[in-house]
Amino acid sequence: MPNVFDEKISKNYCSNCGACVYICPTGALAKNVNLPQFDPEKCIDCSLCINICPSNISLQVTNIEDFKIKGYAVKTTIDEIKTRAQDGGAVTSFILTALEEKLIEYALICGGSIFKPEPMITNNFEKVISSAGSKYFYAPILAELNKNILIKNSIGVVGLPCHLRALREIEKIIKRNIELKISLFCWRNYFYKYFREIISKVGIDNIQEILKIRIVQGKYIIEKNDGDMVSINVKNIAKYSSKACDRCGELFSLNADIAVGDIGSDIGWSTVIVLTEKGEKIFKKCLEKGYIVSKPLASDKIDLIKKMYKRKRKRIEKN
Ligand code: SF4
Ligand code: SF4
Ligand code: SF4
Repeated sequence: MPNVFDEKISKNYCSNCGACVYICPTGALAKNVNLPQFDPEKCIDCSLCINICPSNISLQVTNIEDFKIKGYAVKTTIDEIKTRAQDGGAVTSFILTALEEKLIEYALICGGSIFKPEPMITNNFEKVISSAGSKYFYAPILAELNKNILIKNSIGVVGLPCHLRALREIEKIIKRNIELKISLFCWRNYFYKYFREIISKVGIDNIQEILKIRIVQGKYIIEKNDGDMVSINVKNIAKYSSKACDRCGELFSLNADIAVGDIGSDIGWSTVIVLTEKGEKIFKKCLEKGYIVSKPLASDKIDLIKKMYKRKRKRIEKN
């Protein structure tokens, strides 16, 4: 019977989402900041892992044009989030709102810093605030899912499209829908172990020189503490990615309640796509509390997002 180590991890088709670690009943898979660790001695060939792996799940046939996209440019008003966020700090503001308003009891998020991802499940407001800021690494957030919390508590999950693809399978297994799903836009991601190699390509030896990292219009851009900006074309660092990204067809998950990214917004603002009624409720509550300011995205920006969505979708056909 197939397992994810033989079929995905060893063939470089793993995006380290952590779902297989969560589902493995014997502990044969263990979480790791780079790739799940596999102990063949503990494997009982149940194949639960391969069935949940986002790299193994076909995308539903969806046409972005069938979705009524409500898009906004959003900026947080909370200073502690503003100083940490790469863009507008919308994700952290939404999660904070959902916890405060008791719409969720726990949040599954990626904490740590822009230098190292540290996924966590938490109901602590300070930890949520300090998690603000994008991390351009694969992060095994689903390995943090706790079966007790999943059974007893409401939960909000912030993840990449591959995380949410696996989460859909988890929802089928636990026979309930996760209360809040926020999808981050994702064009491509990178292994943590190659971070120093990537930054050395733009002449940076010391990570302390780095203020912010962004991926915009095909460029991996580093903003330095001294105000300088350096960048590299993402094509030149593609070898530091998993092949899972080469055939990933989702710019953001259409199964989310809200999707957040930066395409279509000015620097310092987040692009927010509201996809469900639940998403709308959180968005409005966040506005009401004064945690964010927003303005509708112009139709040409919505068209740009759809164009980028379709472009990423083509990866499925190519690979
Ligand atoms: S025990 Fe099952 S879930 Fe765990 S690694 Fe083996 S096949 Fe995968
Ligand atoms: S993509 Fe996720 S589920 Fe698949 S092997 Fe990697 S960590 Fe496991
Ligand atoms: S491109 Fe797809 S597979 Fe790669 S990290 Fe992003 S969502 Fe995951």
